Amino acid sequence: MPNTRMREVLSTTFGYAAFRPGQQALVEAIVDGQDVLAVMPTGAGKSLCYQLPALLSEGTTLVISPLVALMRDQVSGLERLGIEAGALSSGQDAAGNREVASRFQAGALKLLYLAPERLALPGTLDLLRRAPLARLAVDEAHCVSQWGHDFRPDYLRIREVADELGNGRSMQLVAFTATADPGTREEIARRLFPVAPKIVVHGFDRPNISVAMEPKREVRRQIRAFIAGHAGESGIVYASSRRKTEELAAALVQDGIRAEAYHAGLDSRLRGQRQERFQREDGMVMVATVAFGMGIDKPDVRFVAHADMPRSVEAYYQEIGRAGRDGLPAETLSLYGLDDMRLRRLQIEQSEGSAEFKRVEQQRLAALIALMETPRCRWQTIRGYFGETAEPCGHCDVCRHGITAADATQEARMVLSAILRTEERFGTEHLIDILVGHATEKVCRFGHDRLPTFGVGKDRSRDAWRGVVRQLYGAGLITTDLGGHGSWRMEADARSLLKGETRFEVRADIFTNRKPLRKSAS
Ligand code: ADP
Ligand code: ZN
Repeated sequence: MPNTRMREVLSTTFGYAAFRPGQQALVEAIVDGQDVLAVMPTGAGKSLCYQLPALLSEGTTLVISPLVALMRDQVSGLERLGIEAGALSSGQDAAGNREVASRFQAGALKLLYLAPERLALPGTLDLLRRAPLARLAVDEAHCVSQWGHDFRPDYLRIREVADELGNGRSMQLVAFTATADPGTREEIARRLFPVAPKIVVHGFDRPNISVAMEPKREVRRQIRAFIAGHAGESGIVYASSRRKTEELAAALVQDGIRAEAYHAGLDSRLRGQRQERFQREDGMVMVATVAFGMGIDKPDVRFVAHADMPRSVEAYYQEIGRAGRDGLPAETLSLYGLDDMRLRRLQIEQSEGSAEFKRVEQQRLAALIALMETPRCRWQTIRGYFGETAEPCGHCDVCRHGITAADATQEARMVLSAILRTEERFGTEHLIDILVGHATEKVCRFGHDRLPTFGVGKDRSRDAWRGVVRQLYGAGLITTDLGGHGSWRMEADARSLLKGETRFEVRADIFTNRKPLRKSAS
């Protein structure tokens, strides 16, 4: 497909001057017939990536979309552009659905939107067989993930449907989502696609948002100092509990700042009033729990702070992403402390979830901690987490100030060696037992007290070792299986480190001023 044709449709039909970053490569892959899973943040322009190919292909593109309102919106948007589109959903009456079905059978539709529950209705497949199809596009693909909040059982039928409609081979599948941590991404790929799709991640960069992270020292003082640099500007301060939002808001008011608290414990009228005030007025600071933000569409939020550690990298990204929607510079500061980490661990342990769920959550937490402690560019680390490769941003705290790094090549090799000598079958605490020479019953049972690695790291604290493990994880040199038991595996990239060809650096503070997370067992 010549690019000129693509560009022509982009400008004449859709009225856009150029592709957004990532769109063109995606459109090309889709037109080329590849199965694709695209991960792009909200607002990046995912719809165009299946709508444009629909116009360049023979037959109808089926689109599975979970939200009736969104579907209606899309169809009317397409119709305004003069594109033949329709939707089958419970959101419209039987006559409306019949009319769409007959246009489809006549081969008149370029795009047909379907609510997922349609896939389970008798007759849907029969109908879909009556006209040539181009491909199946799946919006909000994370709805197939059983770990997510948006799980839609009907999404599990998509793969079957693609099989049945494909005359012998599976029909081309392209799927889109805005939220996919590495685990969810794997799950989507596995559940939705017959064979591994091409995964494309793009657009997580927010170049106008500068980010910084600091360990908690005196939270109020840190937050006040941060806000003082933004006099007269609107911002959000996230805190983890209702009580903290009230206290912090009161403290800010005392400083003469127009601040309000916002949390789910307030009655809905008061919440509405405060939210509206924030939307309308300039220079208001909302001190809020994560309950605040869903409906917020204020373009000129100039700063976001976390007075407590966010819940996950995804949550962090969403929350700081509420700053600088207008594209002008915005600043964020996120505080984290050992109390937050301990609390999150405990919450996960005590949650109702299955063992598997807890393991996934613990891994998410580990990734968040790795981000907080990384000596690498923050944006590089965030985008790397979402699967995107990136250059250092130049304006995060690490890029600006430089974090003193300590050479931990030796320590890193000790960890890798412990992982390999125990056949990649053990988790952090057991590996640390070996490194510090702590002959637990389990260590002895496996004969690990006789390994050459046993006790080689006794000069470092257990916490320093946890830091090294976390940072190896953060750097992508070790990984842990979703199906495993928290055991660590070595990634191919770590080989050169093990052979002594590359060096490994960590934040120097890992080895110095950190208090242990837990009392050392040794
Ligand atoms: P997503 O589904 O990724 O959240 P949408 O597909 O709804 O995002 O697109 C977000 C907005 O970006 C829409 O208003 C859309 O019209 C606009 N948009 C998409 N692609 C382009 C482009 N190449 N140039 C300009 N605007 C675009
Ligand atoms: Zn940076």
